[in-house]
Amino acid sequence: MKDNLKLYHAKRNFSKTKEPVGVHKRKGKKLHFVIQHHLARKDHYDFRLEHNGVLKSWAVPKGPSYNLLDRRLAVLVEDHPLDYRTFEGTIPKGLYGGGTVMAWDEGYYEYEGDFAKDFQKGTLKFTLYGSRLRGRWTLVHFKKNNWLLIKERDHYAGFQNILEFQTSVRTGRTMEEIENDVSKKMITSKVRGIVDGILISHPQKLVFKNITKFDIALYYQKVYERMFPFLNQRLISTIRFPDGQHGETFFKKHLNNNDVGIGMVHVKSFKSKRSDYYYIKGITGLLSEVQRNSYEFHLWGSQVGDLECPNIMVFDLDPDEGMGIHQVRQGVRDLKSVLDELQLISFLKTSGGKGYHVVVPIYSLKTWEDFRDFAQNVAKLLETKWPQRYTSNGRKEKRQGKIFIDWIRNTKGATSVAPYSIRIRKKATVSMPISWSELDKVKPDEISIDKALKRLKRKDPWAHFFDIDQ
Ligand code: ATP
Ligand code: MN
Repeated sequence: MKDNLKLYHAKRNFSKTKEPVGVHKRKGKKLHFVIQHHLARKDHYDFRLEHNGVLKSWAVPKGPSYNLLDRRLAVLVEDHPLDYRTFEGTIPKGLYGGGTVMAWDEGYYEYEGDFAKDFQKGTLKFTLYGSRLRGRWTLVHFKKNNWLLIKERDHYAGFQNILEFQTSVRTGRTMEEIENDVSKKMITSKVRGIVDGILISHPQKLVFKNITKFDIALYYQKVYERMFPFLNQRLISTIRFPDGQHGETFFKKHLNNNDVGIGMVHVKSFKSKRSDYYYIKGITGLLSEVQRNSYEFHLWGSQVGDLECPNIMVFDLDPDEGMGIHQVRQGVRDLKSVLDELQLISFLKTSGGKGYHVVVPIYSLKTWEDFRDFAQNVAKLLETKWPQRYTSNGRKEKRQGKIFIDWIRNTKGATSVAPYSIRIRKKATVSMPISWSELDKVKPDEISIDKALKRLKRKDPWAHFFDIDQ
């Protein structure tokens, strides 16, 4: 295999293009990958894997897909220098590759085996850890320079149309903004009432003290990428708050008119009068819900592909009135210790209200009955271990200075608040994923919209949520 940049250099005039010349050797240990959306003569995605000091590169005309049935043509092109990984900008028209390049995804990848040998043989199997592409993928050679990019079966498979993401992972800019070299800040200040193509009516309406409807729409736009994997294929209920501040709230499980970006499902022989339920398919759906004054989002434990097989378990700790935060935190620790003993990895989030939620991705319980029984048994186990502290009985009169370990939301049709959802409380708070080490530092209701947005820039404490297989 030729890992060199002769061809790359031969094709370019570096006095005219800002693309990197590329001399740097890599220093870190992790192997990078990048996908650049390249709007050139033909629209395509450049898929690049770091190997042996260069970026092995394929042009993928239709872009990657999480659909297991898709086989995306990937044409092997010349090796690119490592520096190309961070390139975003325009290449002058008339030059080789003339057009606009957007950093569409980036991260690192893991390779088991001998990359060089497998490249020769024509089959590369790797795991991607990007912002948008994750999980196992394969590149298979079939003729000349033609390969196929294929998603392998794992928990990420089936993830909805990933190409809906049309902004840079680096700068948040659209193609047009990159072309015009505009910064994201300038763009958002110019936008009035239009967020991601959705017209928000009454954008200046105060929903909470100091927070407008437009602020909420912008919040959901910014948090969308982190939040969407949890919304993905999950039926929702939302809380609407049409008059804001001193008005009433409405719990919404059914829609009267479905929008772009909303999916509908009929759930047969279910307790409620109406059988139609809905889920959010993309950014448009989320923002159109905000436009309809839904600011709080609650999720089912299963996904529409298999509604009878739940896979995210939530425990909520509800203390009796007058109990202190340190008791709630002890409760969270005790619950985690029980889950640890059961060898279950769990994740922590603030409820945005009075408590914390402990969330467990779990794929091994295949029916709602088993799922609910398991959750109830965990609550009972806490009750047995510490009868003075916990109860698995939801009745208020059974509480008496104890914390109710709420397992009941792990039943079919029950919901709990989505990670990153705003809570409609006195102040707008967020149900925020935090790391276990932050339990004693972060209060359940202290994450405001602003604080949540600042936290997005830090390492994601739930980054591996969907990598867990248990
Ligand atoms: P806190 O920490 O303040 O207790 P929480 O999210 O744990 O917050 P609630 O907001 O009281 O608790 O929600 C309790 C449960 O009821 C959740 O499973 C939620 O999805 C559901 N829920 C919330 N509002 C409604 C409603 N109006 N109708 C039906 N179910 C609701
Ligand atoms: Mn609660």
